[in-house]
Amino acid sequence: MIGQTLKALGAALAGKEISSVELTQLHLDRIARLNPELNAFITVDAEKSLKQARAADARIAAGTAAPLTGIPIAQKDIFCAKDWLTTCGSRILGNFVSPYDAAVIEKFGAAGAVNLGKTNMDEFAMGSSNETSYFGQVKNPWDRARVPGGSSGGSAAAVASLMAPAATGTDTGGSIRQPAALCNLTGLKPTYGVVSRWGMIAFASSLDQAGPMTRTAEDAALMLNVMAGFDARDSTSLERPVEDYTRDLSANGSEKPLQGLKVGLPKEFFGSGEQAGCEAGVMTAVQEAIAEYRRLGAETVEISLPNMQHGVAAYYVIAPAEASSNLSRFDGVRYGYRAPEYSDLNDMYQKTRAQGFGDEVKRRVLIGTYVLSHGYYDAYYLQAQRIRRLIAQDFVEAFRQCDVIMGPTSPCTAFGLGEKSADPVQMYLSDIYTIAVNLAGLPGMSLPCGFSNGLPVGLQLIGDYFSEARLLNVAHRYQQTTGWHLQVAAE
Ligand code: GLN
Repeated sequence: MIGQTLKALGAALAGKEISSVELTQLHLDRIARLNPELNAFITVDAEKSLKQARAADARIAAGTAAPLTGIPIAQKDIFCAKDWLTTCGSRILGNFVSPYDAAVIEKFGAAGAVNLGKTNMDEFAMGSSNETSYFGQVKNPWDRARVPGGSSGGSAAAVASLMAPAATGTDTGGSIRQPAALCNLTGLKPTYGVVSRWGMIAFASSLDQAGPMTRTAEDAALMLNVMAGFDARDSTSLERPVEDYTRDLSANGSEKPLQGLKVGLPKEFFGSGEQAGCEAGVMTAVQEAIAEYRRLGAETVEISLPNMQHGVAAYYVIAPAEASSNLSRFDGVRYGYRAPEYSDLNDMYQKTRAQGFGDEVKRRVLIGTYVLSHGYYDAYYLQAQRIRRLIAQDFVEAFRQCDVIMGPTSPCTAFGLGEKSADPVQMYLSDIYTIAVNLAGLPGMSLPCGFSNGLPVGLQLIGDYFSEARLLNVAHRYQQTTGWHLQVAAE
């Protein structure tokens, strides 16, 4: 049962081939064996997970099971989960046991899924390598001397090492897609507003969005069916009719199932000369994937995203600005860490935040406070917002010419632990292909498309607003004729 898709596990549970308690225990045993080295989980609580598994078994026996009932799912430690330690990868929340469930956790609970544990992540989701976590770096199951990507690196490593059948992630600038690419997983960042952010600890509120990290596109659709939906408690949640994201995935029998699909290839990704420093091996795998799409009937057109080159710069003004405001709530007064010794209230704030936050978080708070300050607001923050609008406009133009945009997810495969830690700009450039999607609020996916020097490469699909079902179908057709997503790291 280890290594099966959610779909297969659902069928096995429904067919009484295995119980949820047995399935959960199998994964807990695997976690006990592999996690000490991979460090993908911050919190595992067998008793809590097994209690949920017993409830799921009762539900299956009563004949009221939903598609994910009884399946263990790992949850990124950014989601508040009632009575679970919820750290967001930070010392400042190192002792925080949440009194309530995030909307996403609630929804998995209502679906009868089992919470398998809370996964490691970059502190407050700031990073592309999972090295900024207070709880230590996560190792990539494909090569334990390398990073799994970030910030959802614990979720990625958990699924890639088969410790979890699937996991949740969040993506502010690439944090679902980039670790999915580096660990050979399928990851989906939905359109901004599709998944409720309620109870998901905020990094940059106008960019943050939760999504699934799975082995197949079909599984991502099953996960999104649970996660998506309007929530009045999140003021940016969108009120839309409920969708079945698996609706386009049944076999249509055609040899060219994607006949008529127009794939846009941004010349900024593929043009000669500067290709955002993309590794040759990554580019080759991506080009081969596009050739496969042509065989499936798709037609490619060259498009342009002229303002994309400014995306990383704009993001590193906007995201820190929002983070500096969001993180002001961590002050040692109401919850979380408080410095043990201080002289007065101000001293308590200062010591708590100095000791509670790591270097990357402090860097962002400093940048964010600076760009929002009087005298610099117009020069930086306002300019960045203008670029954000231009980037969104570029995509509007592009989707007049194509149905889906393709390119690399990450310019490189998994890099070595410590390799980019000394140079934040190099680290920030890991998201050069993913960040614009968040700035525009669009849905994006990464799917396995080959290997370069033995390390996984991700293909990125970008769709128009609310085109998740189409993206999942486009990914699924590719996975029907290729086997990259089935490859698993050797133990
Ligand atoms: N790597 C980017 C950052 O550090 C994006 C992180 C994310 O998507 N959460 O901000």
